[in-house]
Amino acid sequence: MSSPRPLPSEARALLEPTGGIVLFLTGAGISAESGIPTFRGPEGYWTVGSRNYHPTELATRAAFERMPREVWAFYLHRRAVCRAAEPNAAHRAIAALEATLGDALLVLTQNVDGLHLRAGSSRARTYEIHGNIDFMRYVDESQPEPLPLPPGIDVAWAKGRALTDAEWALLRSPSGVRARPHVLWFDERYDEANFRFESSLAVAARASLLVVVGTTGATNLPLQIGGVAARHGVPLVVVNPEPNPFSELAERGAGVFLEGTASAWVPSICEALADGG
Ligand code: NAD
Repeated sequence: MSSPRPLPSEARALLEPTGGIVLFLTGAGISAESGIPTFRGPEGYWTVGSRNYHPTELATRAAFERMPREVWAFYLHRRAVCRAAEPNAAHRAIAALEATLGDALLVLTQNVDGLHLRAGSSRARTYEIHGNIDFMRYVDESQPEPLPLPPGIDVAWAKGRALTDAEWALLRSPSGVRARPHVLWFDERYDEANFRFESSLAVAARASLLVVVGTTGATNLPLQIGGVAARHGVPLVVVNPEPNPFSELAERGAGVFLEGTASAWVPSICEALADGG
């Protein structure tokens, strides 16, 4: 975890109050310091049979259709990693900012780890645009809301542990429809019902500030959010240890790129926003 860093004056100027909505867009990088690996880091390969899969190959509908039990085991292990992690200073700072800004703050997170909610961000002000690993849906989408995983599925799940037949039987509806993790896979499309697609784009167009933390912008909706915000002249603050399409957008338009980790910058950003710039 890094120590909070003082903001440069050009960032401070962007954080002055305008009365509009402050929008945070967070990605796997904000949870990296809680010990949850990002997909693009070196860790996280997963072996099924004799083959080694990259997480982005397993996190697909195609993989689930071919080997649903193995994909479930991958998610149950990832869920165990997420549950064992604790929110860090960046999650906590955003949750504390919501206590000050109320409805003038909205968090769009690509993370499925639930750490924003566990830090105290409200469900109403947190759109989990890639789902939440603690929930499941039936493949025919027949349930009205995502369902918590059944209590018979252990939270602790060692890497590589397969499901027993009894556990596998729990992951279906009373009429036998298979359940799937409530996440957006890499070969699927966003929608409003599960992932708040239209609502997210609408708020990006009218926000007064967009703060992007710990994402490469390699997926469609986050990139669209950055593009929509830029076209509407929304100022952009980007936090990442490495440059990426968002930092380029910030540096091309009205924005600033804060190079470094989430825990170094996000508490200072939230403090400035809470103090009014
Ligand atoms: P990504 O594209 O958001 O990439 C991770 C980003 O985090 C990179 O830009 C990296 O430079 C940055 N980063 C690394 N350490 C950081 C730090 N300490 N502070 C700030 N930024 C840091 O995400 P991905 O890993 O490619 O994952 C793709 C998708 O997979 C996610 O959008 C999500 O749906 C899922 N995923 C979720 C989690 C989670 O819930 N924690 C973890 C991995 C993957």
